[in-house]
Amino acid sequence: MLMIPVRGDDTVVKRMAQLMRAGARLTSYSCPACGTPLLQLKTGEYYCARCNKQVVIVRSEEEEAQVTMKFGLAEVREAVFRKIIMLGRSLEKIPPQEVESLQEVTRNLLLLLEAFDKLNKIIRETEKERR
Ligand SMILES: [Zn+2]
Repeated sequence: MLMIPVRGDDTVVKRMAQLMRAGARLTSYSCPACGTPLLQLKTGEYYCARCNKQVVIVRSEEEEAQVTMKFGLAEVREAVFRKIIMLGRSLEKIPPQEVESLQEVTRNLLLLLEAFDKLNKIIRETEKERR
């Protein structure tokens, strides 16, 4: 029988049990944020059922820096993506005769798309380096 330390809330245990039924396995690593034992999902990712977050195990400081950078950039990419969607929606509301507003929004959209593209490239490169 597995003993899983819990702090008076069984939703975490339930979630862990669910994940394990789905093929995840319990590891000897624990979450750096809350100390809960980490599960390794079938996809190979480590996961904290309490924080509801993926945890990346790093073996060196260099690797840690890379992972931090990758996750940081991924967050920025998400913010840029949300802005692209927002601008797209505002573009729809601008009447075609309002040339200046149209130009401004389009220009911003192009800048954001460029940033999105660059972020994608950088993130892909950091992924390659890790292999
Ligand atoms: Zn945790």
